Parts: sequence; C-alpha cells; structure tokens
Amino acid sequence: MRIGDVYRQSRPGLSIEIFPPKTEAGDRLLYQTLSQLTPYAPDFVSCTYGAGGTTQQRTIEWCRHIQQDLGLTATAHFTCVGASRSELRDWLKTATSQGIGNIMALRGDPPQDQQEFQPAVDGLSYANQLVTLIREDYPEMGIGVAGYPEKHPEAASAASDLDHLKRKVDAGADAVFTQLFYSNDCFLDFRDRCDRAGIGVPIVPGIMPITEYARIQRITSMCGASFPDELAQRLAAVQHDKQAQYQIGVDHAIAQCTELQENAVAGIHFYALNRSDACREILDALGHKPV
Ligand code: FAD
Repeated sequence: MRIGDVYRQSRPGLSIEIFPPKTEAGDRLLYQTLSQLTPYAPDFVSCTYGAGGTTQQRTIEWCRHIQQDLGLTATAHFTCVGASRSELRDWLKTATSQGIGNIMALRGDPPQDQQEFQPAVDGLSYANQLVTLIREDYPEMGIGVAGYPEKHPEAASAASDLDHLKRKVDAGADAVFTQLFYSNDCFLDFRDRCDRAGIGVPIVPGIMPITEYARIQRITSMCGASFPDELAQRLAAVQHDKQAQYQIGVDHAIAQCTELQENAVAGIHFYALNRSDACREILDALGHKPV
C-alpha cells in the first residue's frame, strides 16, 4: 500500500520504524522482532537509511525481507547525504527494482566530522529537492517527509521550519511523520500550525516508547525533543531499576497514544528501536488485535 492510501482508510494508520542492525546478533533480534510484530498487520514497516554509506544497501535488503518474506509493505528511508543526483537516481532505481513503492525522503544529518550539512558535488541541500527528484521519475511513489513539532535543531525559527515543511509537501509528499515527542501538547499545537499554514496532508505522530531512561535522554538531547518534568522526575527516581523505567515508559506511551487517538490523529508511527515488547504492550492496550 502506498503511503498516500494508508491514511485514506476508515481507521488510523499503523506504521513501525526499524533500523538495519550492524551485527549478526542485531539481525537475529530484528528478525524475531519483526515476526512478533507482523501479526499486528502494520500498514507499513519503515527502515532507516544510515549516514555515511554503511547501511544503505541494508535498507533495501531489510525492505525486501519485510515485503517478500513477511508480506508487509515496506517504506525505505533515503537521504541526500554524500550522494550526487545521479547516485541518488541509481539508488532509487535499485530500490524500485526490488518492489519498494514508498520512500521517506530526508536530507539526513551531517556526518560526525562535519558541523554543518554540506551537499555532495551535484547533490541536494534539502529534503524538498529530494521529494522533487523522486516525483519527477516516480510519479506514483508514496512519499513521507519529516516534521518537527519542537522545531528542527538547525532551523532559525519555528515559522521558517514550517515554511520549509510546506515546501516538502508542495513538492509532492503524501504525509508528514513527526520527530518523537513526549508531550502531546507539542504535537497538537504543531498539527494546528500545519493546518493554518495550508499543509493539507496527514501529520502522523512519531512515538518512541521509553524503555531505558539513559538511552532516551541521549536521543532527546540529540534531536532537541523536550521531556516533561514530571515524567523525568518519575524516571530519575527509578534510575537503577530498568524494569520500572520500562513500565513507566510503556504506561506513558499508552496514555499518549490514547489521547492522540481521541484527537483523531491520522495514525501512529512507532519508533520501535528494533524491539517488540513495548510496542506489543502498547498495541494490545490500544485494542489492536494480532491476527
Ligand atoms: P530538511 O527538511 O531539508 O530540513 C533541514 C533543515 O533545513 C531544517 O532546519 C529546515 O528548516 C531547513 N530547510 C529546509 N529546507 C530549506 C530551504 N529550502 N532553505 C533553507 N532552509 C531549509 N536521518 C537519517 O540519516 N536516516 C534516516 O533514516 C532518518 N529517518 C528519519 C525519520 C523521521 C520520521 C524523522 C523525523 C527524522 C529522520 N532522520 C533520519 C533525521 C533527519 O535526517 C534529520 O533530522 C535531518 O537533520 C533533517 O532532515 P529533513 O529531511 O528534515 O531535512
């Protein structure tokens, strides 16, 4: 199913994001995770695209596994990092030849040794250009783009960030998938601002269940997502008890998703971090029945 069609159904969409592992043990865990999540029949499973060339073919390989072995729809993430236009087109040709019909089109982050994003020679500077490039060659492609309820860390202002998001949508994106957030007010305010800015595609909240406080602290500090004080205090109080952190995280995600669904979100995109336990608990609590 193409991304555009997922959010035209009569029920909220469900998508799950994974990343290509770097070790054989990681591969084994991900095979197991995917087989445990497949019965929940997600509308698609998306696989991230690593910076610097390490996992880029692996993105296609995992998408192939998701589609051909598991019978689910895959979405391949794709970035502008380090690639000329012709290299971007080559990757797209390979991806589409493997049956991939959905792309999450991103600029990507600068490599670790660079402060600022530098486009490759004859490359692209922003994700809106990638959306245009994909649309030119693949008019039927399902295209998702990233949105930032709390502003992209590099953006000069929330208003300019929203203008740039609109460019991506005007270039042909079918839906916006948000950066993770832990306060629904941030998301609901962002969705209202998108609406007022004339961004008419579904704005899909990205939910990353907290399974380990230290890991989430690292991730939120990198991506600029805020953390509600009350939640931080509860997690800090159990900093030596991983099981208690997991339970607080799962309960918070269930409460977040329940409230989002009450606010008629188009769907939910789970950042599963290649594990299934938390997602399954949340999906069960939300009434998703495994088939
Ligand atoms: P853009 O939309 O290009 O925005 C980047 C910055 O430039 C923003 O500050 C924006 O305001 C500004 N900007 C945009 N357009 C213009 C313009 N025309 N003129 C001036 N300024 C402009 N990273 C990966 O490496 N691999 C992944 O698989 C991956 N998946 C992701 C999935 C989701 C759902 C999300 C939310 C993020 C993901 N990321 C991934 C992270 C993403 O690559 C980074 O956040 C990156 O820094 C920005 O990418 P973008 O596509 O939002 O860029």
